[in-house]
Amino acid sequence: MPILRPDLDSRHLVPFDGDFSIRDFSADPPKGSPSEAGLEKELAELVGELDKLQRLLFADGRFAVLSVFQAMDAAGKDSTIRKVFSGVNPAGFRVHAFGRPSELELQHDFFWRCGQRLPERGKIGIFNRSHYEEVLVVRVHPQFLAAQHLPDVDTRRIWEERFESIRNFERHLARNGTVVLKFWLNVSRKEQGKRLRARIAEPDKNWKFRLADLDERARWDDYMAAYESMLRETSREYAPWFAIPADDKDYMRTAVARIMVEALKELGLRYPEMDAGRRQELKEGLRRLEKE
Ligand code: AMP
Ligand code: MG
Repeated sequence: MPILRPDLDSRHLVPFDGDFSIRDFSADPPKGSPSEAGLEKELAELVGELDKLQRLLFADGRFAVLSVFQAMDAAGKDSTIRKVFSGVNPAGFRVHAFGRPSELELQHDFFWRCGQRLPERGKIGIFNRSHYEEVLVVRVHPQFLAAQHLPDVDTRRIWEERFESIRNFERHLARNGTVVLKFWLNVSRKEQGKRLRARIAEPDKNWKFRLADLDERARWDDYMAAYESMLRETSREYAPWFAIPADDKDYMRTAVARIMVEALKELGLRYPEMDAGRRQELKEGLRRLEKE
């Protein structure tokens, strides 16, 4: 199964042994990070590289890539996805945003709606929110469980059980050739407040604002506790989490793009082998074209 080097972008890789506190992760870029112009230049290069790598991923035909994005409101999930994949062939990736489950979705187990959106080999699938909402928003609001038609709910055990299910699901994907990369865009409470105020102040951002976002913001500490336990229980070598500082948007986008590029390079992608039959086909093609 595709396993990433443990030192792959170790600055942001969430340790696999669960030995950390969520406060260990900074929302600010590391000291000495490049300037805005430097980051923009690097991002432009990475965006181009990602396109080439996706085409090679397709030609190689063995792997799919699933990138999962989770974050508090206004952390920049949408704009990060838009920028990082802006150079990739539109046929090579698909984004799906997961909102509150529909009644049909609630008639199934929580992986059902995700399973249908998984990328096929050669493609990049992007989850804007994901199955992880089941241990984040649902954990902060356990009353949502009542709508899930579960046969029995023991709130002392359910989160551990869900983590176990998620680990098994992702390990299964990895074993079958899907590279799972998960990004937590770590925005600070202060910066979120600034961005939410901008949504009210700037007319072209008004449409994004919902009063309900402030209710979630009021539960900040509960969310951080849920994120911490999610990161501990589900950052594993077959499906690592990356904690991306999100208070500086340029840094965030470049960091995500860099990790995507490094991870794809790690796979040792190659063009399919030209066996004797295929070589013969090429020779025959050349012969016919020359005869024209
Ligand atoms: P947005 O991403 O701003 O469009 O909002 C989508 C909303 O759907 C967020 O408030 C999520 O927390 C919520 N959501 C996503 N998945 C679930 C889920 N499984 N159960 C309940 N709410 C969810
Ligand atoms: Mg929202």
